[in-house]
Amino acid sequence: MAKQKKNNEPCCCLCGRSGSQVFLFTGMQGYVCADCVETAHEMIVSASTNSATENIDLDKNKLPKPKEIKTFLDQYVIGQDEAKKYLSVSVYNHYKRILQKKDDNDVEIEKSNIIMVGSTGTGKTLLAKTIARLLNVPFTIVDATVLTEAGYVGEDIESILTRLLQVADYDVKKTEKGIVFIDEIDKIARKGDNPSITRDVSGEGVQQGLLKLLEGSVVNVPPQGGRKHPEQKMIAVDTKNILFICGGAFDGIERKIAQRLNTKVVGYGSLQKNAHIDKDKLIQYISPQDLKSFGLIPEIIGRLPILTYLNPLDRQALRRILTEPKNSIIKQYVKLFEMDGVELIFSDEVLDFIVDKAIEFKLGARGLRSITETIMTDLMFETPSEQTGQLKVELTYAKERVNKMNHIV
Ligand code: ADP
Repeated sequence: MAKQKKNNEPCCCLCGRSGSQVFLFTGMQGYVCADCVETAHEMIVSASTNSATENIDLDKNKLPKPKEIKTFLDQYVIGQDEAKKYLSVSVYNHYKRILQKKDDNDVEIEKSNIIMVGSTGTGKTLLAKTIARLLNVPFTIVDATVLTEAGYVGEDIESILTRLLQVADYDVKKTEKGIVFIDEIDKIARKGDNPSITRDVSGEGVQQGLLKLLEGSVVNVPPQGGRKHPEQKMIAVDTKNILFICGGAFDGIERKIAQRLNTKVVGYGSLQKNAHIDKDKLIQYISPQDLKSFGLIPEIIGRLPILTYLNPLDRQALRRILTEPKNSIIKQYVKLFEMDGVELIFSDEVLDFIVDKAIEFKLGARGLRSITETIMTDLMFETPSEQTGQLKVELTYAKERVNKMNHIV
């Protein structure tokens, strides 16, 4: 019989909400709301995929070895060898952990979450994205800046796992073996070195929440994310085997590193011991203590045992980024023109000029694309209807285009 509320308003026969609250489908014998239909669908899909993929289809013999993973990364990311090595080993070990049989009750391999420190635009996200191309496990990138403690506006910590669930088609077992890249982890550092007395919405509280995820616990995840669907049924996800890779610029951390190194020098009473320190690239000496001085709580640092860094990009690296990666900016423009039957050539002087401008405007690698775009816009507008054959971009033209843009700005 059709279920109706006292005031005769039709309502969902599963959750009881009325037509004024939710959209109702009408059946022969009653009503069911759109949310319950959606939840039921997800449960059916999840149940069928869970049983079909008890073990992720990974073959021990076909696993890419750390060196192979690094070689793959080399095709897309210039330099950053340290970070590449650490990432390759971690991802390889993650696979091995996944493949470890349950009855191997001798040694349980624990996961080793990673933290990558490096200025903005040095390739942290690019590394994470490139790794994702290679992976056979669910992978997602989330931004730590949107996280807040429950009860505050923003995303709850659990929503980090919503995306992973979605990528895994709501297959909980697959999700529990996935990899999450948390970007801008430095933005949830506590302000100042002392533990705050008042509640710190964007800092320590969020770190405490994140800790639960990192150390491995069963978390109730909203399948739709956010708080837009308060009625949604939570899905329990165990984070014990999820690999977390964190990235952050940690602006100013070099000062903390320098302070620590100096203290050491005084401690040892020998300046000479530290004479070999490369003061321009202090980031390479980063240690967990520096993360603590920056405002990460020791518990979080302890759960991110692998600490690596990305070097600032110098002129030479920027020049290589322009042309060398498999899908470098220049290769992309050449391809675009080739599709119109035009052979596009950049003179070396133009490439050097693009790098010079990226440095001058302090835009780093991100600037390479916008500067090249400025030079190329008119040519991309005119060439398809005007020209075939060869098109060489010369320095005078490039300078003219960039200067014109500068005057407008
Ligand atoms: P972040 O370190 O801030 O996460 P990204 O990885 O987003 O920086 O880099 C921004 C852009 O700069 C990338 O899309 C990429 O084109 C370029 N880039 C940065 N670093 C490198 C690198 N080491 N090799 C190749 N391209 C890079």
